[in-house]
Amino acid sequence: RFIALEGGEGAGKSTQARLLAQALRARGIEVVVTREPGGTPGAEAIRKLLLEGAPGDEGAGWNPRAEALLFAAARSDHVESLIRPTLARGGWVVCDRFLDSSRAYQGGGGGLSDDDIIALHTIGSQGMLPDLTVLIEVAPDVAAQRLALRDTHGTDRIGGRDTAYHARVAQAFATFAETEPQRFARIDGNGTPEETRAGVWDALIPLLPP
Ligand code: C5P
Repeated sequence: RFIALEGGEGAGKSTQARLLAQALRARGIEVVVTREPGGTPGAEAIRKLLLEGAPGDEGAGWNPRAEALLFAAARSDHVESLIRPTLARGGWVVCDRFLDSSRAYQGGGGGLSDDDIIALHTIGSQGMLPDLTVLIEVAPDVAAQRLALRDTHGTDRIGGRDTAYHARVAQAFATFAETEPQRFARIDGNGTPEETRAGVWDALIPLLPP
């Protein structure tokens, strides 16, 4: 099975990916926990390019189309060299971000059309989709508080984005979950990690082996 965790920065996706993997392993399931952009040496190299921006761009970041292509390239490497092989041998993949992040950030935030993002995904990853996408939603002030407590000081984030950009991202995620309810589980992430964990697990139960 292939599970993606989605949401804005500070939603708690990485924590939940770890907790979910622990719970699945306790049931004897082989689990690979991975992330986007990244997850393989090739995709991590592309992640570095994305986080650093184009050389000489003075903090403006890649242009939205180049950015979308880099995300699609990173995903292609990740899907072909890690995700497909893991699923093929019967393992589970828990992925921190996947296609819907591209649709929300490069589309909702960056202004590219959803059709273009999906076309890049078709070319790069043959349209591979998770069995379930768990969308963890948090209020903007809760996310901001959590980010302020992180010790990475923004080095692990793409800069040059304002509050309006992040609001468009959150709105895009909500719209996808509303229009494609069969693919999504929507979880309230404002509470404690344990509360969120319980919500994620409930959503997973139908996918568990008997
Ligand atoms: O999830 P994580 O915080 O590791 O993502 C690293 C950076 O990449 C963040 O700034 C996130 O907003 C950004 N990102 C993006 N578009 C994606 C996936 C991640 O802009 N499709």
